[in-house]
Amino acid sequence: MSNVLVLVDHAGGKVRKTTAELLTIARRLGEPVAVYIGDGVQDALPALGQYGATKVIALTNPDLTQFLVAPKAEALQQVAAKLEPTAILISSNAEGKEIAARLAVKLDSGLITDAVDVQAGDGAGGSPVTTQSVFAGNYTVQAKITHGTPIITVKPNAASPEAAETTPEVEEFDVSVSDAAKTARITDSKPREATGRPELTEAAIIVSGGRGTGGDFGPVEAFADSLGAAVGASRAAVDSGWYPHAYQVGQTGKTVSPQLYVAAGISGAIQHRAGMQTSKTIVAINKDEEAPIFELVDFGVVGDLHKVLPAATEEVTKR
Ligand code: FAD
Repeated sequence: MSNVLVLVDHAGGKVRKTTAELLTIARRLGEPVAVYIGDGVQDALPALGQYGATKVIALTNPDLTQFLVAPKAEALQQVAAKLEPTAILISSNAEGKEIAARLAVKLDSGLITDAVDVQAGDGAGGSPVTTQSVFAGNYTVQAKITHGTPIITVKPNAASPEAAETTPEVEEFDVSVSDAAKTARITDSKPREATGRPELTEAAIIVSGGRGTGGDFGPVEAFADSLGAAVGASRAAVDSGWYPHAYQVGQTGKTVSPQLYVAAGISGAIQHRAGMQTSKTIVAINKDEEAPIFELVDFGVVGDLHKVLPAATEEVTKR
């Protein structure tokens, strides 16, 4: 069976949920081979095995983690030259997309970014068929790569992780990094202060607040915590200094696609929709029944979020 490379997204050996999603997708296309960059591969093995990685290629050359993305693209090029995969899957985050773009140039291959679904193509080894949501979610496009090794970046929540227990063997793989790739050294790196909530772009549930909160995100956070959700914000809330920019959802913020998106006190401007309208189920709470957000919701509550959210939190907490 053909190899499908999955670049592991991890923080010091802790494998992110997006990698479980990529491995699940990779199993539709062939044999998932995880490519792990950095230290801590042993810590990552259980999670990689749980989702069906048949093999783990460990790349421990320190240049790969001491510089920004260019060395990683070079390393993947060398792994691809050896394993001749039929596809390469990478998480659709800022780093993943830059690695993918550089790799596509190096392999003279087609690249598809921000896929929300990936299915096997026709025939053995046929190029996978991807689905993308483009032009602020107004069009759904299906595409496949017709030249080189398909390189696809996949958005979080594109698949539900499905376990398929394996015991992957680990293969240490030596890669060389050119001087040209070592031009941007990382001088410091610290994780954002932990909130105890899931990452916005990975979360299965997001509760977002807008100008309607009046600056009080307490009810939004409390409801989010009752559901184990991430918190998001509209630009109006961020620009008012009520919530940090890292949590902004929309055209100039994060694009999210959770199972459930709750918009509280958000009018539903096109720029906000651009970042959330591929969410599977959308719920809005707004005191104005004419608010445009109600055009795209699955469930809507016309009411004051300061009353609705605490009542909803109480109900959820009871269960
Ligand atoms: P408003 O539009 O002011 O809506 C507030 C809503 O809250 C109203 O519908 C009101 O009825 C409701 N409300 C008020 N009080 C309550 C209450 N007590 N209970 C319940 N409901 C209440 N916006 C983004 O969000 N993300 C982006 O990435 C983004 N990028 C942009 C890029 C560009 C180039 C431009 C021009 C704009 C961008 N915007 C973005 C801004 C966007 O156009 C809107 O201005 C913004 O989304 C409005 O935020 P809001 O819905 O919170 O505020």
